[in-house]
Amino acid sequence: MGSISIAQARELLAELARDFAPILAKARVREIPPLAVSRSKQRLGETVWARTGVHSWRADRIKVSAYLLAQGDRAAVRSVLIHELAHLAAGPKHGHDDRWRSLHRAMGGDGKRLATIELAAPHKYTATCPRCGHQVHFDRRWSRPHSCARCVPGRFDPSVVLTVVQNY
Ligand SMILES: [Zn+2]
Ligand SMILES: [Zn+2]
Repeated sequence: MGSISIAQARELLAELARDFAPILAKARVREIPPLAVSRSKQRLGETVWARTGVHSWRADRIKVSAYLLAQGDRAAVRSVLIHELAHLAAGPKHGHDDRWRSLHRAMGGDGKRLATIELAAPHKYTATCPRCGHQVHFDRRWSRPHSCARCVPGRFDPSVVLTVVQNY
């Protein structure tokens, strides 16, 4: 299960916006704001509003947590995006009120706030052994290559150097 890229999440958002175009149009949503990545562990998603006048607002962007994307769970990302689209349709002053709930249900949600999704301890890097597939997760960039301690314990072996991928 790999992580979901921001490009994939943007595609998913565009897809959902097409699916729910009639609901969004009825709610007078003219455009979907850009999707950005947040570093929040607590908030899986967020709709950021910008004031444009004394009583007028526009949606500035929708944010999705890097930690959620790193989990690679497409269904979870989808449900966070639907949650945010319902906020977009409901407007900035509504929070999770009746209007938000009915819009969320209309988009296939359950009208409930997000259950807390257990986010796996997210790490910036994942290193994989090319021989046995053993994985190591870490946050600070390695200054030198490491070899697989499972295949060759106790010493560096250039034949099993771990391949490092940056997750976000
Ligand atoms: Zn919400
Ligand atoms: Zn190995």
